[in-house]
Amino acid sequence: MSKNCRVCKSKDVEVFLDLGMMPLAGGFLDDETKFSSEIKYDLKIYICNECSLIQILDAVDPQILFTDYSFSSSTVLPLVKHFEDFAQWIVNNYKPNSLLEFGCNDGILLSPLKKLGVNIYGIDASPNIVEIAQNKNLNVVNGFFNENFAKSHLSVHGKVDVISGSNAFAHNENPEKILKAAKILLNEEGTLILEFMYAGDLYEQVQWDTLYHEHLTFYSLATISELLKKHGFYVFDALRLKMHGGSLRVSAKNHDKFPKTDSYHEIVNYEKNITLNNPDTWKSFGRFVNRKINIVSEVLHSLSKNNSIWAYGAAGKATMWVNACELNFLEAVVDASPLRANKFMPGTHTPIVFPDRFKLLKPDYTFITAWNYADNIKKNEDWYKGTWSTPLPNLMFF
Ligand SMILES: [Zn+2]
Repeated sequence: MSKNCRVCKSKDVEVFLDLGMMPLAGGFLDDETKFSSEIKYDLKIYICNECSLIQILDAVDPQILFTDYSFSSSTVLPLVKHFEDFAQWIVNNYKPNSLLEFGCNDGILLSPLKKLGVNIYGIDASPNIVEIAQNKNLNVVNGFFNENFAKSHLSVHGKVDVISGSNAFAHNENPEKILKAAKILLNEEGTLILEFMYAGDLYEQVQWDTLYHEHLTFYSLATISELLKKHGFYVFDALRLKMHGGSLRVSAKNHDKFPKTDSYHEIVNYEKNITLNNPDTWKSFGRFVNRKINIVSEVLHSLSKNNSIWAYGAAGKATMWVNACELNFLEAVVDASPLRANKFMPGTHTPIVFPDRFKLLKPDYTFITAWNYADNIKKNEDWYKGTWSTPLPNLMFF
């Protein structure tokens, strides 16, 4: 089947990293009876040779991915802080009377905005998450942000001053639908603000373990600007953020007369300097990732012959590491979250246990899949006398 680039529609798309058949990163299994019916999906990462967009084109049905979404943002403290700051930033910069957020999750941004006096509206695709938002008395509905929704919203509430989407935008198979809806609802001088995981951080920190089915598109400033321009939105500001290991926040207007910020120009130059928007950059990235996966796999397999090995952290990245490296010999994966502990890892079916089991059984080696939190984990488990290991930026034992 021929595939087209999600943004420029070119057929000249090419796989630069093939991770094979992979389970869903968040597809934890409740018990052994679920093992035989587990489904795996092709996970190939494509680059468009025309516009350089990084994308997953074998999309999984969003009904499967998001219907019972187990990620409630407000349970993650650093995210709460991020969205409180974001709310204040929006008010300081744009002073909106009204704001609509698509993919609003449990209202993590809308809550602080409401407190700041903004008239807020939200829409989200997950019914269970919308219920949480509604219980906080937030004006949130369940559904997809598209032209139909926009027209009915327009007839009841009129246009809005700001439309925002954090992370939801890059998770959508059809960004056009969102942008058409935004075009209908955004005031003439209004601002469209999008936050998404940034291709620059993916590249710089070799974060291949965030390339999973939910994350359909990794935009750079250049590729998002091109997409928005096609739909009559002009980016004038961009900011790099720490969220999710490195994200970008872009602001766009309905016209191109608004002056571009210094930060926008800096990021344009950064992308030029590291040739981020050159397909060859990503093809060599793909080869590098494959070597990395092979090294981690070989080293841990040989250690497993004479040692007990556990992993620490069961979130999305863990699913990627244990499956890509085929770490079927892991005895357990430690995770403190009740959403994951006492379940089984997708793919390898390794039992996930609370940290107290870890303290009791003291494995010889512990592979930290949540490598970006390695310092915190080590500090929390400072009684541990075995050997820690992290896979990125380089495979290390300490
Ligand atoms: Zn393209």
